[in-house]
Amino acid sequence: MIVTRFAPSPTGFLHIGGLRTALFSWLLARKNGGKFLLRIEDTDQARNSEDAMQAILQAFDWVGMDYDGEALYQSKRFDIYQQYIDQLLNEGKAYKCYMSKEELDALREEQMAQKIRPHYDRRYRDFTGTPPAGVDPVIRIKAPLEGVISFEDGVKGEINIAASEVDDFIIARSDGVPTYNFVVAIDDALMGITDVIRGDDHLYNTPKQIVIYQALGFDLPRFNHVAMINNEQGKKLSKRDGATDVMEYKAQGFLPEALLNFLVRLGWSHGDQEIFSIQEMMELFDPKDINKSASSYNLDKLLWLNSHYIKECNNARLIRQLQDFGINLQDDSKRDIILKATKERAKTLVDLSHQIRLLIESPQKYDDKALKKAYKEGTVSILNDFIGVLKSEDPQSKETFHDLLQNFVAQKEIGFGKIAQPLRLALMGELSGAGLDEIMEIVGRDEVVKRIENLISHAS
Ligand code: GLU
Repeated sequence: MIVTRFAPSPTGFLHIGGLRTALFSWLLARKNGGKFLLRIEDTDQARNSEDAMQAILQAFDWVGMDYDGEALYQSKRFDIYQQYIDQLLNEGKAYKCYMSKEELDALREEQMAQKIRPHYDRRYRDFTGTPPAGVDPVIRIKAPLEGVISFEDGVKGEINIAASEVDDFIIARSDGVPTYNFVVAIDDALMGITDVIRGDDHLYNTPKQIVIYQALGFDLPRFNHVAMINNEQGKKLSKRDGATDVMEYKAQGFLPEALLNFLVRLGWSHGDQEIFSIQEMMELFDPKDINKSASSYNLDKLLWLNSHYIKECNNARLIRQLQDFGINLQDDSKRDIILKATKERAKTLVDLSHQIRLLIESPQKYDDKALKKAYKEGTVSILNDFIGVLKSEDPQSKETFHDLLQNFVAQKEIGFGKIAQPLRLALMGELSGAGLDEIMEIVGRDEVVKRIENLISHAS
């Protein structure tokens, strides 16, 4: 059975890079009827935050990524780690090192002066003497002295690291706290992880983790190291570019399926297909199609996907989503025509709620540029005449509003823009939005008249 995991460190919010590797792992597990586990890497007590942890769980919930069983917390597993440290010590595969910080610094300086890579010289590896008094030792693993540590990375291909590059690294600090690479290897092994998918910033942690696996006789998982997400200029993605808290995307009006679709395509492809339902992603995802090179974040593409999913979204769900943006259409008898008129052109839910607000509330202000452009000499008399027609006719449907407008321009022998632009301004306060006939149907005749009168009194 395929078992994957996501292993965030709750030292900051979950950002999209993290969500992407989580998504890949989740898809691989779900596609194969396997398990997707969540492990919280919270051993660094000083840097952990409860808020960050909650934000991670909240983000998972929002995008609908479910994990199997309970989340596992490394901070609650120190006894387990200690057991393996003891085992390695007993088997002579790890040892206590009494070197002080000063001695280490001196060694480092000496090596740098000799222009060799600073490394621990293994002086306590076979130590049998009396340990220096008053020093709390660290525990180091006996890394292989020769040969090559190699593994086949699903994305990067074969990775070979000379054993001489891997020191006898520390697996437990002098206060007994186990180190990062040690606990990751122990947990991945004990959790039965078969496939590790993570950022390629961890590629060179892998040889160290392999040393641990081998010392304990654990089977190695398959490793897949995914290239970073860059910004559009090819630089590391920063907060300003979009490397923000995943929940920020919710606040900005993105639908979770749009974000997931966007993320799955950042670093993975299936031919030239761009749109993937969750179901399709699950069917098609294969780590072997993860791209080797870094991908680039493209906000326009995310907006394009989001507008696609807003169009696809059924009204009942859209209405629920819009409540977060202050729009309550639940009991509005015109809710379907309101959404029909607006959801075609909205890029985000913020955008959509703005468009809807313009329809259901009288304009509070008029866009200055639009006013200059649309409100000219002669406009007031055209608008007054149109009010007259509205009052005498009482149109209700989109079609009757449409005919009324057409007849009006034909009779007055004016270009359509002469009435359309000021009318749109009166109705919406700006010059964008749905078709005028649709807008008027939604607004209703009496309110249309009122909005035109408001514009006239504002402009005169
Ligand atoms: N806690 C690590 C991180 O947030 C995860 C490392 C891993 O997936 O092995 O980068």
